Amino acid sequence: MTVLIVGSLNTDILVRVRRAPLPGETVLGDDAQVQPGGKGANQAVAAARAGAAVAFCGAIGRDTFAPVPRGALSAAGVDLEDLRELDAPSGIALITIADDGENSITVASGANARLAPEHLPAEFTGVSHLLMQQEIPPDTVLAAAVRAKAAGAQVMLNAAPARQLTDELWPLLDTLIVNEHELAQLAGVPEGQEESAARSLLSRGVGAVFVTLGARGSLVVTANEVLKQPAHKVDVLDTTGAGDTFCGVLAAWLSGGAALPEALQAANVAGALACTKLGAQAAMPTRGEIEAALSAL
Ligand code: ADP
Repeated sequence: MTVLIVGSLNTDILVRVRRAPLPGETVLGDDAQVQPGGKGANQAVAAARAGAAVAFCGAIGRDTFAPVPRGALSAAGVDLEDLRELDAPSGIALITIADDGENSITVASGANARLAPEHLPAEFTGVSHLLMQQEIPPDTVLAAAVRAKAAGAQVMLNAAPARQLTDELWPLLDTLIVNEHELAQLAGVPEGQEESAARSLLSRGVGAVFVTLGARGSLVVTANEVLKQPAHKVDVLDTTGAGDTFCGVLAAWLSGGAALPEALQAANVAGALACTKLGAQAAMPTRGEIEAALSAL
């Protein structure tokens, strides 16, 4: 069964600088790095590397940036039949990384912001799990969730970047994935009360709430249980893409028929493995690497 990702794809342009520019200032950095990105594309690559059959629906332009994320999705074996080419600039993210580790990011959404309900696949046949994020318009997220439900697919939303969800969307969600900040914002409570905050979201109609806790691991809360996974111990090099890896691998494992505890454990281990290498998509583990880490537990 297929995992369908409806989401964003970008070209990330990264520049290392001594310190971020002040307003009106120019600073000189070293060589720019150009990498494929966007939460939708990242999660599609993570799910495909983890062994799932993955289809992607998103929007891209016809400009010089388009081949970067498209090529990476294609190389990962993602089905791009529903990737729409629009008369709009492709999405890009301008990322400045200062010596103190602080990142400043400017995203030009471009075509991603124009992904409309009419661009969704006509049929959701063969889709077992729909996985979305919030870098595309809310009405498209809602329309995709409605269609997936009607087709009998499970609906998964990674509520990143944080924004409030429309009332109609909550009961359509089988699975919500959030980090600590997104959880606190959605639940309207201070950070540090993960279990009660997650439980309060269940009352809005979502089936299971997964919370990623960075170096503290992850947990899932359902009406009947709370399961926790401490972080898998690794030598951390760069945490970029850990959250996207968690989401993609979770979808891959669930679409393969895994139960929640097993899927949580695989996603938790995969998120940690993504921290051992530089970059987002470049750091995502293969199914073999995830399985090897799981069997060594
Ligand atoms: P986000 O980047 O979306 O905030 P997190 O930082 O919570 O996501 O990371 C997602 C998952 O990746 C975590 O739940 C955990 O499984 C894994 N992870 C992240 N940071 C670490 C770390 N320092 N050590 C081990 N695992 C980590």
